[in-house]
Amino acid sequence: FMNYFLRALRDASKSWPLLLAAFLCSAGVAGLWGANIAALFPVIEVTLNGESLQNWNEKRIADAQIKLERHGQEIEQLRDRLTGGGISEAAQQSVQNKINTLTLQDKGDGALLASAKALQPWIENYLPSDPFETVLLVVVLIVMSTFLKHCLLLTSTMLVSFVAMGISRDLRVKIFNKALELDRTQFMNQGSAGFMAQVTHTADMLSGGITTTFGGAITEPLKIIACLTGAFCISWQLTLACLTLAPVVGFMMVWLNRKMRSASKNILSQALGFHHVMLEALNNVLTVQAYTMEPFERQRFRDSTTQMMKIGLRHNFYRALANPITEVLGIGMVATSIAVGAWLVINKETQIFGVTMTEQPMTVPGIMVFFGMLIGASDPVRKLSGVITGINVGIVGAQSLYPLLDTPSKLKEKSNPYYLPSPHREIALRNVSFSYDGIDTVLNNVDVAINFGERVAIVGPNGGGKSTLINLICRFYDPTEGTVELDNVPLTELAVKDLRRRIAIVTQQTELFNETILYNIRYGRWDATEEEIEEAARKARAHDFIDEFPEGYKTKVGPNGFRLSGGQRQRIALARAFLRNAEILVLDEATSQIDVASEELIHEALSRYVENRTVIMITHRPSTLALADSILEVENGQVTKRPAANYRAA
Ligand code: ADP
Repeated sequence: FMNYFLRALRDASKSWPLLLAAFLCSAGVAGLWGANIAALFPVIEVTLNGESLQNWNEKRIADAQIKLERHGQEIEQLRDRLTGGGISEAAQQSVQNKINTLTLQDKGDGALLASAKALQPWIENYLPSDPFETVLLVVVLIVMSTFLKHCLLLTSTMLVSFVAMGISRDLRVKIFNKALELDRTQFMNQGSAGFMAQVTHTADMLSGGITTTFGGAITEPLKIIACLTGAFCISWQLTLACLTLAPVVGFMMVWLNRKMRSASKNILSQALGFHHVMLEALNNVLTVQAYTMEPFERQRFRDSTTQMMKIGLRHNFYRALANPITEVLGIGMVATSIAVGAWLVINKETQIFGVTMTEQPMTVPGIMVFFGMLIGASDPVRKLSGVITGINVGIVGAQSLYPLLDTPSKLKEKSNPYYLPSPHREIALRNVSFSYDGIDTVLNNVDVAINFGERVAIVGPNGGGKSTLINLICRFYDPTEGTVELDNVPLTELAVKDLRRRIAIVTQQTELFNETILYNIRYGRWDATEEEIEEAARKARAHDFIDEFPEGYKTKVGPNGFRLSGGQRQRIALARAFLRNAEILVLDEATSQIDVASEELIHEALSRYVENRTVIMITHRPSTLALADSILEVENGQVTKRPAANYRAA
């Protein structure tokens, strides 16, 4: 289930230079975060003792040297006692132990001495000798490094957002392309509501996930690592002791994770349903109002949003729960360390329950910085819960998006498609059977050919399969069996572009864009001149009514052309098809809404226009039949072709 999200991350990692820069910034942020806390040490030290760091370090060197000397003498005395003999075995053992302890302490002191000596020239050269000046210097450094830290943080945030937003844009484009490329059955599986939800909601989820992964999921753990490393250097045993709570919390986070992911998944499916309800009611708003179904639709919408709210609340509950859990880890860490550390300092001990915690007894500044480091680590631990949520959301988004993007279109073009010369000679269906759903056969073993220049009328009862026949010829679907061929080349082997450029189609459902009339007609052939557009409009009997609009061809038609009448819309669609000047003209009840007088004029134009091209028209009107050379009767999945003269006589 992670795979899809990993793929998204891999997609993102294509912009690795940016991400690398972001990572370096993050590392800088984490380092400065730890350094700021470490800077507390000299401040506490000089404030507490009222002496300069130079003195402090010199004293450390002197102390260590004295101690080493004293230990050396002690060890020698003890050795003498051992070799002198005359003591019991038990006493011998205890003396040996003492020697071992002292040697161990010497090692620690030796390390301290070495580090103090190495530090000395730096302190002498770069730090002021006055204690207060030292504090001032450190404070200024802290402020400056905080400023720098935020510059780095800003850079890293912007870099990651840039990458994530780029990805979500790419995804949106890909989803959109997919929607245009799928065959109609595949399209309907998602529906426009589905695609809408994917483009908005899911793409956001995914890009959010990517942002958190490359942002927080890197910075916060780095901060934790920086602070824990600091704490480790002071006392690794004590640090480990403080981390005992971590596994418990980790376990709870895993559980919470699972809950959160399932909640995110539910949210997503609800979002799909909710888009669906909304788009449907809004697209059919006339029907809703005409049948006074507003309360019903309102209720449906309310239900679907309420459902979404419930699941959203559950999601937020788990998300909120993640906060206390991670915070308990942080505070638990700090609390344990305070208790243990304070005990060690107060009692000047190095061991607790017989376990050595530090080589040296803890000093107050040391333990303070140690606490500081742990507090510094606990804040990013708390923020980690948000990171976990973000990643979960991203995973769910990726799971929903990638399978859609992976769906291969059934209308895939061959790798080396044919391009045929124009005009074609013949369109033929050879033993074609077709079913939309694999259950009902709409067309059964159809064998029919249409020659170039032929004018064919398709007739038959509703639901007989007339539109299906056209869908196959235009390759909106591929046949279940048999082939549709253009000049003996199956359409599946032909370039889709080559096929579509030959076809101009007008269907019953005219589809218009919310643009000007000019734009809508020009859609037929984008490089057409305004004169050509007007000529096409005249042929389709559209010019007169367009001219009467105050803005003429510049009139905006409204969403789906709602400002125009059905007949006007059809005429614009016809003009668009005429403008295309294609060799195959397909008219599916294209003049059904046009008044009889205009229709006759259009037919007249059509009879001249259809010279030298193939025309395939579905019609119920006898007047249109007059244009036809032959008739295709579609009934019960069977298609019979006969000359039009015979048909009219019958
Ligand atoms: P006609 O154009 O002759 O009225 P169609 O070709 O539109 O008939 O439809 C033929 C049959 O196919 C009908 O029974 C219809 O229910 C079915 N049909 C049409 N489109 C689809 C579709 N997208 N999915 C499933 N069945 C469909």
